[in-house]
Amino acid sequence: MDKRIKMRELKDLVRPNIWKLSPYSSARDEYSGHDAHVFLDANENPYNQPYNRYPDPLQKDLKELVAKAKGVRTGQIFLGNGSDEAIDLVYRCFTRPGLDNVVAIEPTYGMYRVCADINDVEYRTVNLDDQFQMSANKMLAACDMHTKVIWICSPNNPSGNLIRHDEIERLLSAFDGIVVIDEAYSDFSGKPAFRKQLDQYPHLIVLNTMSKAWGCAAIRLGMAFAQEEIIHIFNKVKYPYNINKLTQDRAMELLRNPYEVQEWVNILLQERTRLMDAFIQLPCCEKVYPTDANFFLARMTDAQAIYNYLLENGIIVRNRSRVKLCDNCLRITIGTKTENSQLLAALRKM
Ligand SMILES: *Cc1c(COP(=O)(O)O)cnc(C)c1O
Repeated sequence: MDKRIKMRELKDLVRPNIWKLSPYSSARDEYSGHDAHVFLDANENPYNQPYNRYPDPLQKDLKELVAKAKGVRTGQIFLGNGSDEAIDLVYRCFTRPGLDNVVAIEPTYGMYRVCADINDVEYRTVNLDDQFQMSANKMLAACDMHTKVIWICSPNNPSGNLIRHDEIERLLSAFDGIVVIDEAYSDFSGKPAFRKQLDQYPHLIVLNTMSKAWGCAAIRLGMAFAQEEIIHIFNKVKYPYNINKLTQDRAMELLRNPYEVQEWVNILLQERTRLMDAFIQLPCCEKVYPTDANFFLARMTDAQAIYNYLLENGIIVRNRSRVKLCDNCLRITIGTKTENSQLLAALRKM
């Protein structure tokens, strides 16, 4: 068991202006608890129901359902316009432009770097090994006193694999700042998720999304789970009505019927096995990397040529050959049975 080092106080991690910030107080924030039926407080139009009213700024009803589905408390939930909003908020709440830095595994999801660049924050990378695994020691060696945040994605994108649980726990115990673990694909892994360990690690932020297993990329609903004090900071900084009513309503419908989601996941996992087994047999495929997500990485003989060929056949995959450690690799998302069969048929007659 690793010895826990002393964490920096939250106050010393948050941007000073954000720590001091008095948030915008909307009309709907100020009234609460009473059974009002005449709403003359927000300059809304009384006609065109139900879209005339501002939505709940803290999405209380939706968070009740998320809490149940995810096994966390409602106060530990932040909801955003996709995970991307939460990723950007991490920078805006914790990192000072031009002063602080973050450390991330490489390769990984591109938005961590884009948001660092937008916020003028130094983005340090630590290469994964040839099995796409992370060394906690290497991550720690890349940190200095200005490192506020460490980014981990598990299962990782584009490699698809889970990052070893013990290495992540070691980082959580040995790094004194914020650790973000993006678990966008955890529904496909069947392994314990880090959001269950929030009470153990006060500086842990876990990201989830409705965009993948939940089949709702179009409604834009991302989640961050963290201790209440961190969620409170996110709530101060976010736009007051960041989740619109259409999204809240659709998400609640889905959360009341999670059996369908489990069914989708089961089919996708079966199809993943079928597709990966078939890929290994293809002459144009050199290696299929193990995955815990709804996609896999395959090293091909000539990724660009195969990408172009598939494109001409109306099939789009992701060419990751220019990404570090992903030479000649295509990233294949698992589709419907029919779509997957079309992909295989095209590759077999190359
Ligand atoms: C797809 C994906 C997301 C989802 O982002 P949204 O903004 O919620 O759609 C988040 N993280 C990773 C690593 C992803 O691959």
